[in-house]
Amino acid sequence: MPKGVLGGTMQFAEVAVSVPVRGNQSFHYRVPEALAEEIIRFSRVEVPFSGRLVQGFVLAFNNPPDLKKIKEIKRVVEQQPFLDDQLLVLAQWMEQRYLCGLGDALQSIAGSAIGKATGTKEQDVIIATPPDNAIEGLARAPKQRKVLEVALSRPEHTKTELAKLAGVNLQVVNSLIKKGYLSVKATEPRVELTPSLPVLTKEQEHALAKIRDAMEKQKPQAILLHGVTGSGKTEVYLRSIADTMSKGRQSIILIPEISLTPQMVARFKDRFGNLVAVLHSSMSNGERYAEKKRIRDGLAQVILGARSAIFAPTERLGLIIIDEEHEPSYKQDENPKYHAREVALKRAAQNDAVVILGSATPALESYCRAREGGPYQLVTLAHRVDNRRLPRVQIVDLREELAKGNLNIFSSPLISALSKRIEQGEKSILFLNRRGFATTVLCRRCGQVMKCPRCDISLTLHNDQRLKCHYCGYGISSPLTCPECNSKYIRGFGVGTQRVEEEVKKLFPGCKVFRMDADTTSRKGSHKEILEQFINGDGQILIGTQMIAKGLDIPEVTLVGVVSADVSLNIPDFRAAERTFQLLTQVAGRAGRGEASGDVIVQTYDPEHFSILTARDHDFISFYHREMSVRKALCYPPFSHLIRILFSGISEADVMAAAEWWQESLKGIVEETKITGVEVLGPAPAGIPKIKERFRWQLILKGAVSTDLRKVAGTLLQRAGIRFKKVTVSIDVDPLSI
Ligand code: ADP
Ligand code: ZN
Ligand code: ZN
Repeated sequence: MPKGVLGGTMQFAEVAVSVPVRGNQSFHYRVPEALAEEIIRFSRVEVPFSGRLVQGFVLAFNNPPDLKKIKEIKRVVEQQPFLDDQLLVLAQWMEQRYLCGLGDALQSIAGSAIGKATGTKEQDVIIATPPDNAIEGLARAPKQRKVLEVALSRPEHTKTELAKLAGVNLQVVNSLIKKGYLSVKATEPRVELTPSLPVLTKEQEHALAKIRDAMEKQKPQAILLHGVTGSGKTEVYLRSIADTMSKGRQSIILIPEISLTPQMVARFKDRFGNLVAVLHSSMSNGERYAEKKRIRDGLAQVILGARSAIFAPTERLGLIIIDEEHEPSYKQDENPKYHAREVALKRAAQNDAVVILGSATPALESYCRAREGGPYQLVTLAHRVDNRRLPRVQIVDLREELAKGNLNIFSSPLISALSKRIEQGEKSILFLNRRGFATTVLCRRCGQVMKCPRCDISLTLHNDQRLKCHYCGYGISSPLTCPECNSKYIRGFGVGTQRVEEEVKKLFPGCKVFRMDADTTSRKGSHKEILEQFINGDGQILIGTQMIAKGLDIPEVTLVGVVSADVSLNIPDFRAAERTFQLLTQVAGRAGRGEASGDVIVQTYDPEHFSILTARDHDFISFYHREMSVRKALCYPPFSHLIRILFSGISEADVMAAAEWWQESLKGIVEETKITGVEVLGPAPAGIPKIKERFRWQLILKGAVSTDLRKVAGTLLQRAGIRFKKVTVSIDVDPLSI
């Protein structure tokens, strides 16, 4: 019989694999002799699974329940993917929360495989940092005690040297580092930074005091920092991080799209120098390994990154900051469909850490949780630093432009504002949201948009000229004249950034125009180049998608034109109004960041819409109350929870059959379990009904209690197994867009 752990005879490993089965995803494999030395707990390995090779993580070394069909681990992909027990608990939580597999959750946490990295910085020096009476306390761990004694008497050895001197293996040294009895000392020259800090405003002082209070509590705390654009939120972040650092704890700072915000990264590096680690997707494996190692060893105290940096392998986490917490990019599109905000709260709970959620336009869900008695504390920065004015916002009614015979995509006020900037040598930004790729049908004369009578969601135009609701499946054929005003100017609505560029060039020949969207920035580094040219060259107009809505701080920009607020207003999603308010506020915040104040012109066919009016007035609170009453009336989140179940496959008939079977079965489970208040909506074609030759249909589960929904969906997921071989089923708990 094989023996258990340690002692060199760990012959069987329990591996969590990344496979599409629900429920137990860990299986036993034999550890081949040749790999026995190499494989450790949490190693990423490749194993055979139903006829193919898949990746997984070693959870434990123990005996299989059944020796018969046992297979062998094929190879080690990555010996130490920076996982630990705490991150394993986090993965188990994700499994329950997002109805994903444990292997998938671990895969997300560990990130893409770095390989057998050899880049360990062997020269890092270890110093002893034991608590009082540590030696006595280690009476029953003689090896660890020996190491500690050596470290105390002969400081500044590398790990390997220390292990050799004490006559033990590296793991003993590592376990002392984990306990905090030994620390890795920075061998990199530490840059001495003496940045001149601005004197905080009263509001910033107040915010910081609240954050410090929360930190003192040594219990997990969440703070919603609601601050208008330019109110100095980032400065508050920087101070809180310094505080956290002085307590010997690490901070994670998430920003929505790190490659798009070089200015933000620069601010953190200016303040904290090489104590900053940056994690982003375009790093090489070697770079990523080096950064993760610096984080694990405590060399990096400030970790800056996009969504997945929430899984940074910190040793002593004290603070998590989520900037622009309302941003949809914090939710992962692929499995597991986690939200970094929720993961942050969970990690904070594990570490008694503080979470700061910062935004000028908090998500409704978040703001709601920060009101009276909610779990978050609300801290507000209502004014810009130096009391600088917020930009003036002017709304232009495009129906009037049509009435005046102007069929151009630019209204006359926008054209004259642009010419004025060009004359004065100031810069302008033209913004066009392209996220709404689904085609909606709109009347250019009266502004009427075709909507589902049941769901109040814009209907989507399909190829067969039918309009469909992708929440409930309602459908009609596309009208030829406007049902409201009878005009024939009713049609699919769509204009792209390229069109905008052409028009600008026609209107202002010789003007220096730059365009920033997915097409012009596909090459690595091109994003930065375009920005630099626009800023430092004599750029006059920058045209862009949501890419330019965030974080840009260009003092010479005094005009922002929103080419069409309707694109986001009419996305077929119950969050359309919220997205519009957020986008308008955010792009408006790009104007007038310097001495001169800024102007914003918003073009729309729906000038009375409350999301546009409240954005004009910089009035989040009014927006919040109005939108909450809409959500309440239709019972959308935060008054309910949703789970979206997406079916996709090559054959539409198969996809629909699967969706129908699921619909029936879900209803059956609801009845069986006697869970009340759970609705099953659909099946309906998904918002994008076909991607890459695969048809997409969806069901939506709606109910008041998230755990009820998850129970219903989870039960069926397990029962369904792989019933429909040709259809992929994908679950999204609390989807951000449907
Ligand atoms: P936000 O993150 O809320 O948009 P920032 O932190 O970027 O605001 O601050 C806006 C501008 O004001 C930045 O240029 C920043 O350097 C500056 N700033 C922030 N706090 C202060 C302060 N207390 N005194 C002077 N300038 C400040
Ligand atoms: Zn009309
Ligand atoms: Zn509907």
